[in-house]
Amino acid sequence: MIRVLILGGTVEARDLATVLHDAGAAVTTSLAGRVTRPGERSGALRVGGFGGADGQAAWLTEHAIDAVVDATHPFAARISANAADAAARTRTPLLALRRPGWEERDGDDWRWVDDVHAAARAVPGLGRRVLLTTGRGELEAFAAVDDAWFLVRSVEPPDPPVPLHHEVLTARGPFRLEDERALMQRHAIDLLVTKDSGGAPAAAKLAAARERAIPVLMVRRPPALAEVPGVETIAEAAGWALARDAGSGPAASG
Ligand code: NAP
Repeated sequence: MIRVLILGGTVEARDLATVLHDAGAAVTTSLAGRVTRPGERSGALRVGGFGGADGQAAWLTEHAIDAVVDATHPFAARISANAADAAARTRTPLLALRRPGWEERDGDDWRWVDDVHAAARAVPGLGRRVLLTTGRGELEAFAAVDDAWFLVRSVEPPDPPVPLHHEVLTARGPFRLEDERALMQRHAIDLLVTKDSGGAPAAAKLAAARERAIPVLMVRRPPALAEVPGVETIAEAAGWALARDAGSGPAASG
């Protein structure tokens, strides 16, 4: 039986676990432990950091893992770098499952920035009532923005430091267009700040922003690791994992 480690924290990771489990693979999903109630999933679950690339490499060896699928969020760069390092050291095949980024359409007014700090610097010139959906992780970047109010939407309540003027809305996607439209209207939102997470469940806010003709500050993804082959769909990732025979060696190719 093939033993697969899925680095998770995304909807795709959860769905991939189901597909691989149903196909007879021994699947373990790894989560960082950021969310208090991660929900049910197929196969085994382990929670918490490995202790860097060293710890991850030791874990792969200890659990005789045949293949790793990095299905983490496109902005979770550290765990992906650690996975590349650990897989190379243990000669474990590694694949990245990365959903495509969002693409600008007619009627959009997107301003691309390299990180949340650049986004925070750009806010004062663009809007005063901001829907902020970059997650609760890096909110300190917005803490000093004095002349804007933020509706901070995150899965779990954020820890300080948070923006000076703000309200927190805890919510987990998927989000519907009519709800995003109503939310923006209710709070008179005139700027959306988000990351290029990609994927349909979080895309309705972009359509709502387009309808309102408001600008979007879009944080660019960190670059994908060139040395790790990547696919964009669960079916491709499942096919790749199931094709790794136990003991097939260092075949880290797409
Ligand atoms: P990160 O900065 O890349 O990782 C920081 C550390 O957290 C890693 O070095 C690792 O600790 C641990 N870690 C991260 N993902 C892990 C996993 N799947 N299993 C075990 N340990 C993990 O990650 P992040 O941006 O904080 O994201 C954390 C998790 O939330 C990820 O699993 C990601 O898929 C999910 N997520 C992130 C975002 C986002 O915007 N960043 C959005 C939605 C979901 P050790 O070095 O000790 O192993």
